[in-house]
Amino acid sequence: MRAKLALWLRAQIDFVGFETKADIGTFVLNVVLVAVALATATYLMFAAILASLGLLPYPFGTALRFGGLTTILIAASVTALLAWLIGAAIRELSLSRAEFERLSRLDPLSGLLNRRAFTDTLAETKISGFFVLFDVDRFKAVNDTHGHAVGDAVIVAVAEELQRVFTPAHIVARFGGEEFAVVICGNDRGDCCLLVEEARRSVAARRIETGEGTISVTLSAGIADHMPQRPFTSVFEAADRALYLAKSFGRDRAIHEDESDELLAPSRRVAAGGRRR
Ligand code: GH3
Ligand code: MG
Ligand code: MG
Repeated sequence: MRAKLALWLRAQIDFVGFETKADIGTFVLNVVLVAVALATATYLMFAAILASLGLLPYPFGTALRFGGLTTILIAASVTALLAWLIGAAIRELSLSRAEFERLSRLDPLSGLLNRRAFTDTLAETKISGFFVLFDVDRFKAVNDTHGHAVGDAVIVAVAEELQRVFTPAHIVARFGGEEFAVVICGNDRGDCCLLVEEARRSVAARRIETGEGTISVTLSAGIADHMPQRPFTSVFEAADRALYLAKSFGRDRAIHEDESDELLAPSRRVAAGGRRR
């Protein structure tokens, strides 16, 4: 009986969800109905046993009317109060859990998805399109010349421009440091390149305040084809190699993985084979 009640209560909590205050009302009503039914049944059982043993101090009919009504009123009011308090506490906990989960998916500086949330989203959505790895050019020099706070302002500005260019149809994330990842939905490489160029131009045109005037930064990008059947490690390595080439060929440009072989002389292929860092 205890296990069944615990299961029922658990099912109520899962079913109600506690997203709105009305959900607490639903929970209270359900719990009150069950509590009243159990309390009344228990009272009737005891009253019947006492009556059969001749221990009931008043007639069974009176016990049913008076005792039954009292039991219902007390059970309903006490359970309603407790269920409301429990419901309110569960709602508070579920709201803070939802907020915690939301925050754990975001990069605190840029407000973009973090790397873990990005890879989770990618795995869940099975998007077909292009994976683009953006990296701010000579970012260390920004930190060294203007300070870490200006470096942070650059990251925020780049994130804003990327979010503006890549609408919610695409996935944008801060991958770490001054590196950003975007998955562009759609299979047209021309459209993808146009968007990447727009993002690079927008970032280059963005003025960032340093306290002693403004600065701007440029982006390099590596692009790889992304299909659900292609392992993400392979997509990532291809984009990373293309990004490496974009850096090697002077920065401030985007290169697609298919261009890598054309651009690489045989003697340089070995050098470009690994991760940049
Ligand atoms: P490249 O053009 O080859 O990409 O050169 P780079 O200077 O941009 O690249 P590098 O990897 O040498 O420097 C990245 C720097 O980014 C080093 C690190 O201290 C800095 N960095 C990483 N995360 C943050 C951050 O959150 N805020 C700030 N201000 N700097 C960061
Ligand atoms: Mg960089
Ligand atoms: Mg980098």
